[in-house]
Amino acid sequence: MFCKNCGRQLDEGETLCPACGTVNATEATATESVSYEYSAVDTANQLLKDEMAGQTLKWGIISLAFAVSGCLSLLGFIFSFIAKSRARAYEQTFGVPEGKAKVGRILGKVGFGVGLGYSIFFALYFVLIVALTMAEMGVM
Ligand SMILES: [Zn+2]
Repeated sequence: MFCKNCGRQLDEGETLCPACGTVNATEATATESVSYEYSAVDTANQLLKDEMAGQTLKWGIISLAFAVSGCLSLLGFIFSFIAKSRARAYEQTFGVPEGKAKVGRILGKVGFGVGLGYSIFFALYFVLIVALTMAEMGVM
């Protein structure tokens, strides 16, 4: 390459012109450092994205696991709100959930429905048992 100021031919990798003292940053070097910065940002973004997607998936699984358990369905219902908030945080940062985040959000929705359904069922069942017991005891 040649010095951008005086036109003197420079050695390979030489940036400071020995004739006029001008610093000649090569285009390749400038592009490399810019793309390196971009890729560092991309990597950090990707890590955050994975982390948030993982959180959404984790709470979605926990929510559904408790929801289908029967006796602890109320916890599944409650945990579905955590999965939902994780999915919302992901969506606000990275847009429409995809991959793990999408699966986590769906599991959280199922956990919400199943958890709520079981909870109502068990609540009614409990009320029925209490009512029958009281009837048997002659209270009602
Ligand atoms: Zn020069």
